[in-house]
Amino acid sequence: MREILNYARAQTPEMIRTLRQMVEIESPSSEPDAINRLAGFLVDRFAPLSREVDRIPVSGAGDLVRARTGRGEGAILVLGHMDTVWPLSTLRDRPVRIEGEKLYGPGSFDMKGGLTVALFALKTLHALDLRPERSVTFLFTSLEEVGGRPYRHILEREARRCQSVLVLEPPLPGGAVKTARKGTARLILRVHGRSAHAGLAPEEGVNAIIELAHQLVRLASLNEWGEGLSVNVGVIRGGRRANVVPDRAEAEIDIRFSSLEQGKRAIEAIGQFQPILDGAEIEVLGDLSVPPMERTEAIVSLYQRARAIAARLGFDLPEGAAGGASEGSYTAAWGIPTLDGLGPDGDGAHAAHEHVLIPSLAERTALLAALLLKL
Ligand SMILES: [Zn+2]
Repeated sequence: MREILNYARAQTPEMIRTLRQMVEIESPSSEPDAINRLAGFLVDRFAPLSREVDRIPVSGAGDLVRARTGRGEGAILVLGHMDTVWPLSTLRDRPVRIEGEKLYGPGSFDMKGGLTVALFALKTLHALDLRPERSVTFLFTSLEEVGGRPYRHILEREARRCQSVLVLEPPLPGGAVKTARKGTARLILRVHGRSAHAGLAPEEGVNAIIELAHQLVRLASLNEWGEGLSVNVGVIRGGRRANVVPDRAEAEIDIRFSSLEQGKRAIEAIGQFQPILDGAEIEVLGDLSVPPMERTEAIVSLYQRARAIAARLGFDLPEGAAGGASEGSYTAAWGIPTLDGLGPDGDGAHAAHEHVLIPSLAERTALLAALLLKL
């Protein structure tokens, strides 16, 4: 274990160089060609360390990269994504820079730092001639940040072959891994009323905005923040002119929930909303978009094993819950024990101060190498 950590630490300058190179290959979700450049870089770097590396084309998106190593019974999936939320040329304003122990750059924390950790964990095992007794598959996806996931069937097939999934997303502050994530649903509540002249015949109209206002109060009453359920009305639309009784109005709703059951209950409750005004009609569109990662016994047991391995390296490995989803949410929902947030520590995902803590690169590399060896 000492040897793994020492080797990883000695690789820090090389890891910084690699992370910088990856950040400098900008890779927004919406630019398949740009993602393919990063895919090419990863294939080149993984090829000498893997039994098999390939690129899987995805229509309308960048390729996936898949690398396999190890042999034997059992299998682990190491999951990451190559895309970032940053448009091309973000680097012009925010080039990579190092200040003290922080490496700043768009996509550094979410999650090119995680990709760096994956590469160097494999390199560490190789250099020390340590072979995982399990088959390990690295899968790097191309459309994590925007959803849609046209490659979901590939992710599912790879995940179902495995006993555990390790996700390279950024950790919680301080390096805590994520053993729970909230699920998400996106709904539109649309009201149909009847338009009329606001001056000549207001009584003939059914005001869709007023009806929506009644429904908004109901939506707000569904919140159970303490229980992990939030129902947020983020956008409202309706009406065209002040002198017309509006015949249409709608709200966009974001729902977060800790368990699938809780999410389904909220969606069902909204589906049963009845109009208050005579003549108004309500329509609810949309559904569950990402399932929650529930902190099941299997996830807790995977976490505890990981924590024991981290302890042998000399680290504590705290855990926590995240409000947002990742592709690990799917693998957990398919029933495969998933540990998320194994990327290096840092801060500022999707924000201008995005950075990775440099000492964490070697620590997370050693941790992932040890997990691939001992899990
Ligand atoms: Zn991410």
